[in-house]
Amino acid sequence: MRVVLLATPEAGKGTQCKNIVDRYGLVHLSSGDILRRQRAESTDLGEKAQTYMDSGALVPDGLIVEMMVSAISKTTDAGFILDGFPRTVNQAVELDKALTGNSQKVDIVLNLEVGEDVIIDRISGRRSCPQCGAVYHIENLKPKVEGICDNDGARLIQRPDDSSDVVRNRLKTYHQQTKPVVDYYKNCRSEIEFYDIDANEAAGKVKAFIFEKLDVLVSV
Ligand code: ADP
Repeated sequence: MRVVLLATPEAGKGTQCKNIVDRYGLVHLSSGDILRRQRAESTDLGEKAQTYMDSGALVPDGLIVEMMVSAISKTTDAGFILDGFPRTVNQAVELDKALTGNSQKVDIVLNLEVGEDVIIDRISGRRSCPQCGAVYHIENLKPKVEGICDNDGARLIQRPDDSSDVVRNRLKTYHQQTKPVVDYYKNCRSEIEFYDIDANEAAGKVKAFIFEKLDVLVSV
C-alpha cells in the first residue's frame, strides 16, 4: 500500500503517521526527518537545505525529488507512507513519473486540515528540548518545571523555525505551494482515492477514520 499524507502545518501529521506505520507496517518516509538527518551529518544536501529550512521556505524541488525517489527505491512491496512530500505540484508530478516507471502508483491520499488560528497558537507556544527532542507547549503540554525538560533537565528552547515570522512564512508557503497539491490529487487523479479529514477532531477519531479507509485497501 502506498499512502501520501498531506497536512496543513500542525494537523497532527506525526501522530497519525505513527499510528499508520504501527498498524500496517509501512516504511515511513518523512522528507523533514531525512533532511534533518542530512543536516546533522553535514552532508552536501544538508548544507544546501539549511538556509531554506530555517527561513520556512521550501528546499528546491530538484534536491527533494532526488532524495525521496532514492528513499522510495529502497522500500519493499509492503509499501510506504510519504510524510511531507510531495509539497509542490511539480514534486507530485515527478513522484508520479518515478512510480509509473516502476509500474507503481499512489493508492490513497489523506489530507489532514486544521484552521489557521489553531496553527499559529500551536506553533508559537511550542518549546523543544535541544538534547532529547521532547516537545512541549506553554499552555497545552507544560513540563513539570517551567522551561525545563522533564527527561533530562535541559533548558527548553523555541526551534528557530517556530518563531512567529517563520510561522507566517510557512503558512504562506503552504497556501502558495502545497494547497495546490491537494487540488492536484483531488481533481486530476481519479484513480487515486482521496479524503479530506478535519484534524480539529480528537486524535482518536481521526485515527479511526483513517484506519477505516486503509483497512479496506489492505483487504482487497
Ligand atoms: P513541518 O515542521 O512544517 O512539518 P517538515 O519537518 O516536514 O516541516 O520540514 C521542515 C522543512 O524541511 C520545511 O520547512 C522545508 O524547508 C523542508 N522540506 C521538507 N519537506 C520538503 C519538501 N517536500 N519540499 C521542499 N522542502 C521540504
